[in-house]
Amino acid sequence: MILVVAEHAGGKLGKSTLEMVTAARDSGREGPITLLVLGQDVAAVATEAAAVADQVLVGDLPALAQYNPEVWAAAVTQIAREGEASTVLIGGSRSGREYAPRVAVKLDAPYLEDVIKLSAEGDALQAQRYTFLARVTETVQASGPVIVATVKPGSFAPAAPAGAAGEQYDIELDLPTSRTEITGKSVEKSSRVALSEAEIIVTGGRGVGSPENFAQYVEGLADNIGAGVGATRAVVDAGWRPYAEQVGQTGKTVQPKAYIALGVSGAVQHLSGMGKSKNIIAINKDAEAPIFKVADYGIVGDVNQIVPALIAASKK
Ligand code: FAD
Repeated sequence: MILVVAEHAGGKLGKSTLEMVTAARDSGREGPITLLVLGQDVAAVATEAAAVADQVLVGDLPALAQYNPEVWAAAVTQIAREGEASTVLIGGSRSGREYAPRVAVKLDAPYLEDVIKLSAEGDALQAQRYTFLARVTETVQASGPVIVATVKPGSFAPAAPAGAAGEQYDIELDLPTSRTEITGKSVEKSSRVALSEAEIIVTGGRGVGSPENFAQYVEGLADNIGAGVGATRAVVDAGWRPYAEQVGQTGKTVQPKAYIALGVSGAVQHLSGMGKSKNIIAINKDAEAPIFKVADYGIVGDVNQIVPALIAASKK
């Protein structure tokens, strides 16, 4: 089987899980696509997962209420062994990249981190991933009875439902007692849609001019059209916006239906995080700005003039 470890939050399947299902379908590896749902009270997540997978294995236990690397690594390893998995796909989130190497070591499997493309090459699994500040896309092949990989979020299109819903099975897990424990959590509150889930993203760059303009133009437009807010690294480094909003090679990779870039130059490190968006709309006063090379629609002009008009139009 191709084992995909589902990512979910707040009782909902994450978009990254649907992206991993596409990666699994692309991989050409052997066996049914099997989603592993770990957590507590995850029945609704499992039902959502069944729509895109051949089968769903559900580990619904109080001991899985909170993510823990030792416990997750043990659970995933056990299921991969029992199901003789050919491939184990794990989300390229911070936690995924934390426990995935442990799984690879336990399974004595090759490990591919942050893959952006997967395909079969004979018996081997061929993957692409970025390296050297995303200036180089590397192709790498791994072989063996089982291969472990993390999938870079935003790199694959989310999978559409498969047709018939997959069967769901409750699983028994032999979990270790963890030696680490999360003792506190402070969650940043935002009513805005998360970047990784947003269908429309409005991103502001240095050309927006100031933090005040960012709030007025970027947040103003985003809130009017129900979009997520992104920022370039220049803006984050200047302290205008939090790192969580950074899009690009050292920030988030996104693939929304529409990506609206305001005062963004389109540096290669930014493009590597948003270049696969379905429609890119750029407003920049410099007609030679690299962002126009990837834009589907472009306006050469001053954000100070154009964005207030857009906000007024979007209110209608
Ligand atoms: P600028 O490059 O300064 O561009 C501002 C743009 O706004 C210009 O094109 C200008 O013409 C336009 N403009 C100015 N005034 C106006 C106006 N009034 N109206 C309309 N347009 C206007 N960057 C990222 O974004 N994400 C990353 O993850 C990232 N990772 C990096 C990793 C490394 C290792 C390195 C070296 C760099 C990384 N960068 C990243 C930085 C990247 O190289 C660029 O410096 C950055 O993206 C530039 O941000 P910007 O487009 O906001 O600013």
